[in-house]
Amino acid sequence: MALNPAASSRRKEIVVVGGGIYGVGTVSYFLRKMDPKFVHVTLIEKRDDFIYLPINCRNLVEDLSEYIKPYDGLFNPNPSLGEVKKGLVIGLDRQKKLVKLESGESVRYDVLILTPGCAWNDPNSAPSTHEETLAYYQALRERVQNSKNIVVIGAGSVGCEVSGEIKSRYGRSKNVILIHARELPLTPIYMPKLRKKVAGMLKKLGVNVIYSTLGYDNRDGTVTLQHNSMGNVSNEDIEADMVLTDITPKPNTWFIPSEFKNSGGSVQVLDTFQTVLDPNVFCVGDANDIPEVKQALHSRGNSMPVLFNNVSAVLEGKKPRDHYVTLRHSLSLTFGRDIGVGYMKLPGLGPTVLPEWVVKKLKNEDLHAKRIAKLMNGFSP
Ligand SMILES: Cc1cc2nc3c(=O)[nH]c(=O)nc-3n(C[C@H](O)[C@H](O)[C@H](O)COP(=O)(O)OP(=O)(O)OC[C@H]3O[C@@H](n4cnc5c(N)ncnc54)[C@H](O)[C@@H]3O)c2cc1C
Repeated sequence: MALNPAASSRRKEIVVVGGGIYGVGTVSYFLRKMDPKFVHVTLIEKRDDFIYLPINCRNLVEDLSEYIKPYDGLFNPNPSLGEVKKGLVIGLDRQKKLVKLESGESVRYDVLILTPGCAWNDPNSAPSTHEETLAYYQALRERVQNSKNIVVIGAGSVGCEVSGEIKSRYGRSKNVILIHARELPLTPIYMPKLRKKVAGMLKKLGVNVIYSTLGYDNRDGTVTLQHNSMGNVSNEDIEADMVLTDITPKPNTWFIPSEFKNSGGSVQVLDTFQTVLDPNVFCVGDANDIPEVKQALHSRGNSMPVLFNNVSAVLEGKKPRDHYVTLRHSLSLTFGRDIGVGYMKLPGLGPTVLPEWVVKKLKNEDLHAKRIAKLMNGFSP
């Protein structure tokens, strides 16, 4: 679909803020659909390299630097369509349609697509230069290697994978203690059968999961555990050589004016992906307030066609007509290369816990990293 140029003689500017999986997914999708005669796309990213977050848990125990790629080849299939600009976005001027960078530069847009994701803790908060990023992961790997007692706070999917990857790699030589506020891993969004299966697998791996307990990192080599047993609260301090915290991450939206956001900092959007405040500003990925489990997985399926059709409509002065609904309901967790667990909502069967071999086939080997890294050479996912 080529954009109709009738509305204007100058090229329309699409600016994408954030080069995570949604930002590069957007560029990759638009690259194949838009005509550089009429449209120019700028992806602004603060990091030198694309980091596919799902590799981070395994990158704690195995060097996956080969999948941390610069953005150089992203526009390869259609180089005249656009460019990647390195820089930290620090503000927006929606009246003047400008994105402001820390460098002092401003970039003008006709349509702005926000994909800044969330702000996470280690091992998901790599710095911005290539060298610093590789050094960051190397330092984390050494820290894991040199630690005997590792405490992971929060048994969400990241906490479970971090614990499972470490135990799977190091076995009995590490004590991994996983603290979780609830009575089973994950959250009640997931079916009890799956949560029980995850609990069983973590136990089998030797992860010491402490349920119904809150953990507080004292940042002095101790963690305070606040146990809650039928209303009785008691505190206990344990020692930790390393603490990793998996609590719900905050949207990385500090640079976006507050009128765009809800009280939790998520960008408020319609099901067209347009922000509630401004029809020319879109937001996809972890930073928006669409009520779904935030996953890289949703960057495929129907989200890109919906975004593309609606952005095209706005650029052509038409009313966006495509509506996003979450199509895929699934989760897969990997604990090393050989152990995996997951579920998928299957037609006619509803949410179904998948046999281990299916998860292993789908994800374990390289966490899709090889395929996703090809995006940096213009590959379409
Ligand atoms: C450890 C881990 C494992 C996961 N495993 C899975 C999985 O197995 N399957 C799955 O589907 N999902 C998984 N997820 C979730 C998935 O990774 C996220 O949903 C997805 O990465 C969100 O993509 P995004 O593009 O919205 O944000 P991000 O991937 O976080 O990308 C945001 C980008 O924006 C850039 N940015 C932010 N602010 C600025 C700024 N002000 N200026 C310039 N650049 C900026 C960042 O540097 C970053 O590159 C996992 C997440 C984690 C942390």
